[in-house]
Amino acid sequence: MAYIEPAPIKDRDNPFESMMSRFQIAAEHLGLDQEVYDVLKTPAKQVIVSLPVTMDNGSIKVFEGYRVIHSTILGPSKGGVRYDMDVNIDEVKALAAWMTWKCAVVDIPYGGAKGGIKCNPRQMSAGEVERLTRAFTQAMHDVFGKDRDIPAPDMGTGPREMAWMMDQYSRNQGMTVNSVVTGKPIVLGGSLGREEATGRGVMISALAAMEKQKINPFKATCAIQGFGNVGSWAAQLLEERGVNIVAISDLSGAYYNAEGINIKKAMEYRNGNNGSLEGFSEVEKIDPEELLLLEVDVLVPAAIEDVITQANADKIKAKMIVEGANGPTSARADAILNEKGILAVPDILANAGGVTVSYFEWVQNRLGYGWTRERVSRRSDRIMKTAFDKVYTTAQEYNVSMRIAAYIVAIDKVAKTYKYRGGF
Ligand code: NAD
Repeated sequence: MAYIEPAPIKDRDNPFESMMSRFQIAAEHLGLDQEVYDVLKTPAKQVIVSLPVTMDNGSIKVFEGYRVIHSTILGPSKGGVRYDMDVNIDEVKALAAWMTWKCAVVDIPYGGAKGGIKCNPRQMSAGEVERLTRAFTQAMHDVFGKDRDIPAPDMGTGPREMAWMMDQYSRNQGMTVNSVVTGKPIVLGGSLGREEATGRGVMISALAAMEKQKINPFKATCAIQGFGNVGSWAAQLLEERGVNIVAISDLSGAYYNAEGINIKKAMEYRNGNNGSLEGFSEVEKIDPEELLLLEVDVLVPAAIEDVITQANADKIKAKMIVEGANGPTSARADAILNEKGILAVPDILANAGGVTVSYFEWVQNRLGYGWTRERVSRRSDRIMKTAFDKVYTTAQEYNVSMRIAAYIVAIDKVAKTYKYRGGF
């Protein structure tokens, strides 16, 4: 069952290869058929589009956009769209497959997809981002659909972009189709609780892992890399449950306070400072790499891929890692962390709170009826806790890490469903 990824290996780990190497280990534990293995290792569809957009100065700039549908075996494909200069097809392929596994781990009826546009939204005006978003939605008109493929926010996108996508898609249909996109503003049919959902799932996973390791949250310390949607909500919700957040970071740098950072203040500061923590007071600025190596109970990487690698894994002193970001730990770092006895709650479990509430948003849109925030939180907490327990039990049953266990749970579900549905 050897897998050879044809893409060139660059200086950093290739995220698609990282994903495939875990997939392969889990497939071997499950004794997966070669036929099913072959189906699941390749994305079902890959679309690359060129998007000519008029910039504010009148010039036309051509952007590249991607949508990869990894699988529709469990249902319509679901996955975010990221706006970032580093987006590339390999990354999008890896993220699409991750979505398949993530939806299967939390047991929601979706397949996996991901999209992205190579751009720097921070250097673009709102009008330019809007035209780019509409051009992308137009180009993906045959791909997206409430029963086909449902986009959501990811890095660099949020409710604003989702509103434009929903509107553009609806204009083409000649009617409002709000269930085609999730992560929308509440007035457009967004779900209460969606904004904080991923961070909330990280919090539930971290508390569940602390319970297993007999760590009292009121005595625990935590460092969080990335202070965007996932990182800042995880920070706030963990802080509310007694955890001392001693370090946070964003693109502007890393900030440390041994006594604990006031997260509400940090969020307010960031919101009034163009989204950046630069200049935040009552903290000491530290080397961003140092944040990952702090002696804390919980480390939450919630920014980008491949930050815990072969190069720094042996220097990590956290007792556990709860992965808010997708793919923050490279496959080569897994073995080092396992050897050191560091519990890693993997991305496809820990950050699945977002897609869970996205699913609730889709259900509410289709029902034409909105749930309260309490109902959304209660139901998503239950799904996250059930998934955590299932993965934890599977890890013990197969004597593997929680990461491999999560893949086992997910692949088993997708493979069994595929067996019933069949190929051609
Ligand atoms: P975001 O754009 O809201 O925030 C990203 C944060 O990371 C920002 O604070 C940014 O400054 C920071 N950052 C970027 N590069 C960094 C670096 N090198 N060092 C330190 N900080 C850095 O994005 P987000 O929605 O919070 O997503 C973060 C991660 O979580 C991504 O991997 C994304 O795929 C994943 N994720 C997001 C969701 C969601 O619902 N938003 C769901 C599941 C997974």
